[in-house]
Amino acid sequence: MGAPVERTRIRRLPDKAVREREALHGVLDAGMVAHVAFVDDDQPYAIPVAYGRDGDTVLFHGSTGSRLFRLLAGGAPCCLSVTLLDGLILARSAFEASMRYRSAMVLGRCTVIEDQVAALRTISEHLVPGRWDVVRPPSRKELAATLVLALPLDEWSLKVSDGWPETSPEDEGWSPPTGVIPIRTVLDDFVEGEA
Ligand SMILES: Cc1cc2nc3c(=O)[nH]c(=O)nc-3n(C[C@H](O)[C@H](O)[C@H](O)COP(=O)(O)OP(=O)(O)OC[C@H]3O[C@@H](n4cnc5c(N)ncnc54)[C@H](O)[C@@H]3O)c2cc1C
Repeated sequence: MGAPVERTRIRRLPDKAVREREALHGVLDAGMVAHVAFVDDDQPYAIPVAYGRDGDTVLFHGSTGSRLFRLLAGGAPCCLSVTLLDGLILARSAFEASMRYRSAMVLGRCTVIEDQVAALRTISEHLVPGRWDVVRPPSRKELAATLVLALPLDEWSLKVSDGWPETSPEDEGWSPPTGVIPIRTVLDDFVEGEA
């Protein structure tokens, strides 16, 4: 179970909060893109990145020249979120229209990973299992230009919406179709090519 930390206590619809760490792992393992938010000069930014999970750590990588990576490597606080969209909930009212989702948020500070190759392998294997073993490994020069960051899964929240449309007495007389349009991510057939 994750620690019930005040900053990550879900306030709206708290019944959708999930505290099992295995469920958090499941969402992180099912996602491919994380949005990493940080503040630079009083301005918040949210940057999408690829990532992987190693136990209770999220790993992501980028250029040593990137503002995001330079700031986070220097210890700036960040917020990483991964959202899986599972469906559109169609209710009788506009107000109750909603979404099915699994949404994870991790707060903390990153550390710089010294064993870059193992971490890059983890990220690669998360996205395309088996790929790492058939591609050219990163050169020393490429590694020198890369920062790999690790964010611990210490302070986190997970919110899961998997319900059905709500109705209220005011909906009386309104009868559009109600239910859910499921959404799933499909990896399509490989398309061969090169730039
Ligand atoms: C699906 C996906 C996966 C990605 N995976 C990685 C990854 O694993 N590692 C990595 O380093 N980068 C990744 N990127 C690119 C990443 O989002 C940034 O564009 C990149 O890190 C460049 O950073 P920067 O230092 O130029 O950004 P900054 O200098 O911080 O950006 C300057 C400005 O450029 C704009 N900007 C930057 N990035 C984006 C963006 N993605 N979309 C719209 N506006 C933007 C913003 O206005 C921002 O304020 C990914 C992008 C996507 C969409």
